[in-house]
Amino acid sequence: MCGVNVTFSKPVHKSGDWVEGKDVKRQKSIKIVRKSELEITTPFGEHLPWGGFANATSISKYSGSEECSARIDEWLGECLTDHKICNERSPGCTDMEGPKRVIDTGPLDGDLALKLIDYPGSEENLVKYCALSYSWGKEEENFKTTRETYDSRRRGIRLEELPWMFRDAVAISRRVGCRYLWIDAICIIQQDREDWEIEAHRMYSIYGNAYLVIAASHSPSPSSSIFATRPPIARFNFNCAGKTFKISVKERVDHDIWQARERYDFRTVPLHSRAWAFQERLLARRVIHYGPSELVWECKKYIRCECSGIQWPVQSLDYKPGRSLKSERAWHSIVTQYTARQLTVGSDRLPALSGLAKQFAFPQMGRYLAGIWYSQLPDALGWTISGARKPKKYRAPSWCWSSLDGPIHYVTHGCAKEVHLIEANCTPAGDDPYGEVSDGYIIVKGEFGPVNKAGHRADDYDMPVSEEEDVWALKMDFSDWNIWYSLLLKRSRRVEGAWERCGIGIRCLLCREREDGNSHCIALIPGAFFGID
Ligand SMILES: [Zn+2]
Ligand SMILES: [Zn+2]
Ligand SMILES: [Zn+2]
Ligand SMILES: [Zn+2]
Repeated sequence: MCGVNVTFSKPVHKSGDWVEGKDVKRQKSIKIVRKSELEITTPFGEHLPWGGFANATSISKYSGSEECSARIDEWLGECLTDHKICNERSPGCTDMEGPKRVIDTGPLDGDLALKLIDYPGSEENLVKYCALSYSWGKEEENFKTTRETYDSRRRGIRLEELPWMFRDAVAISRRVGCRYLWIDAICIIQQDREDWEIEAHRMYSIYGNAYLVIAASHSPSPSSSIFATRPPIARFNFNCAGKTFKISVKERVDHDIWQARERYDFRTVPLHSRAWAFQERLLARRVIHYGPSELVWECKKYIRCECSGIQWPVQSLDYKPGRSLKSERAWHSIVTQYTARQLTVGSDRLPALSGLAKQFAFPQMGRYLAGIWYSQLPDALGWTISGARKPKKYRAPSWCWSSLDGPIHYVTHGCAKEVHLIEANCTPAGDDPYGEVSDGYIIVKGEFGPVNKAGHRADDYDMPVSEEEDVWALKMDFSDWNIWYSLLLKRSRRVEGAWERCGIGIRCLLCREREDGNSHCIALIPGAFFGID
């Protein structure tokens, strides 16, 4: 929304200029005053004679209000009647089952009566349910179903037992006409590995088939409400040229948090920092986001906010994978965004992305290899990682980004033209080809040679490399800017005769240009042929 932004206060610095760099003494003299931008708007249809103010729809004081429910009805109604794409089954989708269990909240025209039941629908007859997307917070705040509590949950659940957020979800679900609600903590038996695996593999259909996904976006944990009290709005009448105009003044609403997923400012929307929630949002046919200052509706066709500052067709955003077959870049973008988010359980790195992988599994993508598509090899080897941490337990082969914890970036597009792929494979650990893996390898052919390690620092590599270990480089490509990329490898300790990825070499194969002009080069052996563990 453009609006008119009035800056009430600005950062104050005693010496009157901006501070840059690491001058700690000077930084101490800064007094930071919160910069608060105001937005002045008029209702739609009203235009002040001199123009300038944007139109906005009025925002209710509280997101649990009747006005907000009416707004959701309006969006939902339009989506159900006018949006063909939101009401058809997802492309390439074969697994159309609903969840295994749901919470039955009781007949909509009768009293609330909560209990855990088996999902009453089937593949032919999808019974509508809402699904909750939320931040788990601390374990003890959550209300979980375990083997011990399972029978009692099936007999009944008292509303007062539920944490605040879940009670709100029950109310929202019933208000939009859904008797059934899915919440993972209650519908999946916790600490039961087998039950969890079955349901984790169904996230694609659980979120993809939900009538509406309720996103508790601003709530940090189940013990807080889904609803929020909005920042105050000053409203006054303004008389001008014999007419009266309604003017609203409020703190500027940040709309970027909903669209710019490449920016990782998660402070106001804790749910966006959660890795699991990433696919929950992208898989959903429709989501209602309960944001910090307004509601945001997102379906496969539109994204819209309560103040009307956001009204974009979803086609303009390129992340909905089913919509675009520019899948190679789209997948890299998914991986970059996904890995910037937090996971509580490290071994979920592949499972929490498995629903999106399933959505991407068009025949032309080839096999899925622990986060990498076969058709995108050897290019997909060109990833780097910031602040890599290697998990204690084996997770994936070293050439797959999923083998490490940390945010992933791709070096460049088409960065492995010099590498020839011979073969690659991963062995799924369970039934799900998009879930965890137990083993894997890649065999490539290319120019390969030892790296002069002198002058390298430990953080030049993604993986620890000891003094005694030799590092070799596999030539990947030469970019337009005279930059060489190479895959850095060391001998595998796990598999005899194989190599293990330990980083990406950039420019004269990693060595920095020294101030004394002494740069190193490596010898490449053309046509070497080897496997990477
Ligand atoms: Zn829609
Ligand atoms: Zn808005
Ligand atoms: Zn690429
Ligand atoms: Zn060098």
